[in-house]
Amino acid sequence: MRKELLKTVKRVVIKIGSRVLTDSDGALDMAVIGRICDEIAMLRDQGLQVVVVSSGAVAAGRSELGLTDKPRTIPHKQAAAAVGQTRLMQAYETSFTPHNLKTAQVLLTSEDLGSRQRFLNARATLDALLGFGIIPIINENDTVVVDEIKFGDNDNLSALVTNVAEAHLLLILTDIEGFYTADPTTDPEATLIPLIKAVTRDVERVAGGSGSSVGTGGMATKVAAAKKAGKNGVATIMVSGKRKGVITAALRGEEVGTLFLPSDTGLNRRKHWIAYTLKPSGKIVVDDGARNALLKKGKSLLPSGIVKVEGKFERGACVRLTGLDGVEFARGLSDYSSNESSRLIGCKSLEIEGILGYHYGDVIVHRDNLVLL
Ligand code: GLU
Repeated sequence: MRKELLKTVKRVVIKIGSRVLTDSDGALDMAVIGRICDEIAMLRDQGLQVVVVSSGAVAAGRSELGLTDKPRTIPHKQAAAAVGQTRLMQAYETSFTPHNLKTAQVLLTSEDLGSRQRFLNARATLDALLGFGIIPIINENDTVVVDEIKFGDNDNLSALVTNVAEAHLLLILTDIEGFYTADPTTDPEATLIPLIKAVTRDVERVAGGSGSSVGTGGMATKVAAAKKAGKNGVATIMVSGKRKGVITAALRGEEVGTLFLPSDTGLNRRKHWIAYTLKPSGKIVVDDGARNALLKKGKSLLPSGIVKVEGKFERGACVRLTGLDGVEFARGLSDYSSNESSRLIGCKSLEIEGILGYHYGDVIVHRDNLVLL
């Protein structure tokens, strides 16, 4: 079953926790980072696209600043993250260079992803980076966030990134082998669960999410991340990042760690959200050819099919699509604002850049963001 599921994976988000990346003194463990990068390079050789979500900035900065304990105040944490982030990137650069792979630093905040426009901008950037064969390395932009507006943790961030990056799998590297029936550090009877079909209340209880004292080591946030990714139609595999060869083994479909299956309504939920939760803030009238292409051929809406744009909307907003008869037949998220869309009426996709001076992509409403009514 794993092998079948893994066959469909082309793009993977790999989340690497601080405890995997650091040694017992809390400094970056170059041997581990080197090994992880070697394995990621192998995935790349097999044609997989990889997005990394990496913690470790605060830990790296802490040793750099000579702090013996974890920084306690928020400004100290932020200072440590700022110092550590460059060390962290340097470590990845150094380790990927022998494989001729380049990296890019992407720092996000939860406010960024809460805004559809910034979310789409982040998606477009990641897409472009992957197109160039670069490995994006994402972390939270710790300098500008405090606890109330944080993602909370990089487990949560990695689950959200599966959506931004339109990935097919989330691989969480942590410091234990996977998800256990109880806390393996205190309970000798604890056994590894290789497959979680659904993140139920019981699973959350074992993870320590609802008042239980069983879970430790951030198991609750990992299970929450698996649940969140699952709602987006993405499977999660949790493995020990300390174990050699684990990344390639997991991607080959071997029975390592714990596999969390996605909920099968994943995609529909999103379409449901577009169709029923979002309030359309404008209308795009399309010609018969475009209407036909959207309804019958599964195409995206191109500027050439637009006849009229009504209302005022931002890039990323939900819009109604109607035919010349004024009847709404679809709803979707527009990659261009009302202003931009109006200027693009009837033009060819190739002309977008010439007209606007920039280019977010060839389509006005992408098929993936479109629901037929
Ligand atoms: N952004 C933090 C760091 O890089 C990590 C947060 C987390 O792992 O949850 O140190």
